[in-house]
Amino acid sequence: MTDAHEWLIQWARDAHAMEEQARTMLSGQAQRIENYPELRARIEQHIQETDRQAQRLEGYLANIGESESTFKDISGKLMAMGQSFSGIFAGDEVMKGALAGYTFEHMEIASYTILMHAAQTLGDEQLAEICRQNLEEEKAMAAWLADHMGATTAKFLQLEAIGSGAAKR
Ligand code: MG
Ligand code: FE
Repeated sequence: MTDAHEWLIQWARDAHAMEEQARTMLSGQAQRIENYPELRARIEQHIQETDRQAQRLEGYLANIGESESTFKDISGKLMAMGQSFSGIFAGDEVMKGALAGYTFEHMEIASYTILMHAAQTLGDEQLAEICRQNLEEEKAMAAWLADHMGATTAKFLQLEAIGSGAAKR
């Protein structure tokens, strides 16, 4: 195997770790959101998508002989746990979550764009197709978050103005 192919596999494993991190972060957020049902529903939808994205990468890695135990990533999960809980003590938890979520989707978009081009360059059509599928879902999620950022912000301020303590999450 060439060094170039080693990088391709390493990046595919990194992408898998990223999805595990995404799952931990998103489920932490979804469980805590109470008063933003639309946002919560979209996050729950993306958790399903995230699981399928991880499964696609697992299938690929298994196919090329990378066993599951070698790519389970615990540090990413711990980092994500930190991310999903870092806003808990903030009075604007939902806004901190929106910020982290939007940022994370764009990291995923950049990661899959790089990996897709690497796979194409090295003639790995299976991996390129997985990247295309995952990339489409990340772009859709990023676009949804962008489209609803204004509404989430407005609702947060509205609930704060009432002073019921409901705005936080
Ligand atoms: Mg993802
Ligand atoms: Fe995503």
